[in-house]
Amino acid sequence: MALDDYIKKRKFNNTPEPEGQYVGGNSDRFVIQRHQASHLHYDLRLEMDEVLKSWAVPKGPSLNPDDKRLAIQTEDHPVKYLTFHGSIPKGNYGAGDMTIWDEGSYKIIPDGKYTSGISQLKKGDLKIEFFGKKIKGKFALVKMRHTKEQNQWLLIKKKDDFSTVLEYDAEVFSNKESHSKASKIIPLKPSQLLKPMLATAAKKIFNDPEWIYEIKWDGY
Ligand code: MN
Repeated sequence: MALDDYIKKRKFNNTPEPEGQYVGGNSDRFVIQRHQASHLHYDLRLEMDEVLKSWAVPKGPSLNPDDKRLAIQTEDHPVKYLTFHGSIPKGNYGAGDMTIWDEGSYKIIPDGKYTSGISQLKKGDLKIEFFGKKIKGKFALVKMRHTKEQNQWLLIKKKDDFSTVLEYDAEVFSNKESHSKASKIIPLKPSQLLKPMLATAAKKIFNDPEWIYEIKWDGY
């Protein structure tokens, strides 16, 4: 547990980010922030040992167990960062817009003698159950052993009631303006001509929070 790096990288008179302070206790909360910095990425943060253990996930999390998402461990963040969103001004470390993509609580799944988050973190093999709005169920966060860089991990969904076989793109699940516009209900007048929406054949099934699927039972 150390916020030294966090503090060293920032000038707190020039960024809206919280100052580096430790808090007692641990409520097992997590946050995933969408961070539009020089490169878009998602920051996963787990409340642990009075700080937020943090990873930058370039492609964002996935609910598809076939995806192994690279997660680069970054400096510990203060617990106050759980609710941080806003614009980090140009010239600052991590300059760009940050929004909260998902938040909630998590639980460490005991693995033999490794029952705490800290012990699993040291082992490089975290077994986590998430209780978020988007990210739910069991995940593994595993340190890559055979790479030069010491901070590379993989975030992998486990098969459960919350996993999907569909393609998963975190961007599609972010609350973008286009989504709220698309779901706006427009009242129709009885005389108004309504153009039917034509079906277009797609190469593969897409995954979008605004769409649901049902199986066609006649063999197709
Ligand atoms: Mn970031």
